[in-house]
Amino acid sequence: ATPTALMVGTGRGAQLGILIKGPEALEATRSVDAVVLDKTGTLTTGEMTFAAALPAAGSGVDADTLVALAGSLEEHSEHPVGRAVAAEARRRGALLPVSDFTALPGAGVRGRVGPPGAEHPVLVGRAALLRAEGVPVDEDLLDALAEGEQGGTAVLVARDGTAIGVVVVADRLRDTSVEAVAGLRSLGLRPVLLTGDNAVVAHRVAAALGIEEVHAGVSPEDKVAVVRALQAEGRRVAMVGDGVNDAAALATADLGLAMGSGTDAAMEAGDVTLVRPDLRLAVDAVRLARRTLRTIK
Ligand code: ADP
Ligand code: MG
Repeated sequence: ATPTALMVGTGRGAQLGILIKGPEALEATRSVDAVVLDKTGTLTTGEMTFAAALPAAGSGVDADTLVALAGSLEEHSEHPVGRAVAAEARRRGALLPVSDFTALPGAGVRGRVGPPGAEHPVLVGRAALLRAEGVPVDEDLLDALAEGEQGGTAVLVARDGTAIGVVVVADRLRDTSVEAVAGLRSLGLRPVLLTGDNAVVAHRVAAALGIEEVHAGVSPEDKVAVVRALQAEGRRVAMVGDGVNDAAALATADLGLAMGSGTDAAMEAGDVTLVRPDLRLAVDAVRLARRTLRTIK
């Protein structure tokens, strides 16, 4: 590989909106044969909108209170789910003060909501998060969660150590995802959908894109495990993601591609940055690498 040809390749990439970190990244781009795709923010817009609030039976909480508590806490979150819930609380003029906010990537958020002296501990996130924090999640609540998942991404809300309901948000596929997945497949890459989101939503998205292999409900660590398992099968794995929750998997993959619309953590972990949130750039990147390295062999 002559340095000049590599420079021409990376230069051409930059013109296309594909920032390649170095010659090794170009080589890795050429040789990948599986592509692991994050769902939220990568295949979908990640611009979620509020869909519903379902208070738990017997919680004594109404939908407005549920949105106010969850949305106030999520006002401090960068996650698409959080932003959607926060926007709804803001729209309703229901934002309350928050202290001790913590984001738990791939799981949810924790903090205290309410004016000084009247703060309540609040959690918003997956059932696993509530359980990990010692909040019981009973059958009725799991039923409400399953009902919510029919309409989108559903998360649980707890206050004072008790689960009080479900909030549902939804987003949509990016216009370019269908073409991009078809393009990746035509280059011989096996697509795999990977998401922390629920299985109902994940399979709906996979079906729309013709992706057969789906891993849903996975934690950021499990994302790494899925990449490793493919590598153990002898695959050369590309991973495309946008979130903090994808950073470890992006670093583990033979080739990490970060969506430029995503978080700094993803871009730092990746070997390639796609400057526009358009997965077709990943297809262009593979084509470019193959062409460049074919010329110089
Ligand atoms: P994805 O892999 O689809 O990008 P994440 O790993 O970021 O999803 O999140 C997985 C799940 O964790 C979400 O579907 C949601 O249930 C929960 N979650 C993550 N962040 C938040 C948040 N800020 N508020 C509520 N739930 C969250
Ligand atoms: Mg994401």
